[in-house]
Amino acid sequence: LLRVESLTASYGHLEVLHDVDLTVSPGECVAIVGESGSGKSTLSRCLIGLHDDWHGTVALDGRPLAKSAADRGTAERRAMQYIFQNPYGSLNPRQDVGAILSTPLALFEGVTGAEARRRVVDALERVEMPARMAARYPSELSGGQRQRVAIARALLASPELLICDEVTSALDVLVQSAVIDLLRGLLRDGLGMIFVTHNLAVVRNIADRVVVVNRGTVVEHGGVDEVLDRPQDAYTRGLLANTL
Ligand code: ATP
Ligand code: MG
Repeated sequence: LLRVESLTASYGHLEVLHDVDLTVSPGECVAIVGESGSGKSTLSRCLIGLHDDWHGTVALDGRPLAKSAADRGTAERRAMQYIFQNPYGSLNPRQDVGAILSTPLALFEGVTGAEARRRVVDALERVEMPARMAARYPSELSGGQRQRVAIARALLASPELLICDEVTSALDVLVQSAVIDLLRGLLRDGLGMIFVTHNLAVVRNIADRVVVVNRGTVVEHGGVDEVLDRPQDAYTRGLLANTL
């Protein structure tokens, strides 16, 4: 589904990702873990074309993607959806949930009116929110509900790959596990997922494979049990010692 080869990314003269390789198959969840500042969000932003100062290969279904989202086709942009680290950052505070969810429908598919309302209610249902939530504004939602709306909006694009950047980090443990359950259901439906987090406990609950990034370099990767139970790299051992 996704193949990343020798991805090197910079902010001007500062190189923050060095030669990163990564693959994701349909229905597979790959966790990206590493300390704050290790380059996890930068990697996500390169993949979706929000950051274009990189070189290497990012291929979706075997087709290499342009660096910037602006140079990608609509279908390519819709195929990969990003759930932001901070859901406040991505939900327009002046739109209610119904408008947040129906705007991309109108924009990309020309779907409006009753058909749009039906699709919005469907999307809310998929993230286990009642239809009446469509009338709420982001400020009237809890953190977990905001994440669900962000996920619902991503799903409306019928993506093949979902990139989740610290989606559970700001949530309490109960809400975290509800969101994780929701994401696991999507994986069973065949969606591919990149799950960015610094919370190694959550990784066990959702990921199939783990990629450990230290200061922009992949230091270790493998199956979840392999990496978390028998870490080979000193950096991974340090992460585990500090979090579990
Ligand atoms: P966190 O876990 O705190 O979210 P992260 O792993 O997502 O961290 P990034 O946000 O990708 O880390 O940042 C990687 C590096 O790039 C950091 O050193 C950061 O200071 C730098 N960086 C991030 N955004 C910019 C920017 N817009 N301009 C310059 N440097 C940046
Ligand atoms: Mg980040």
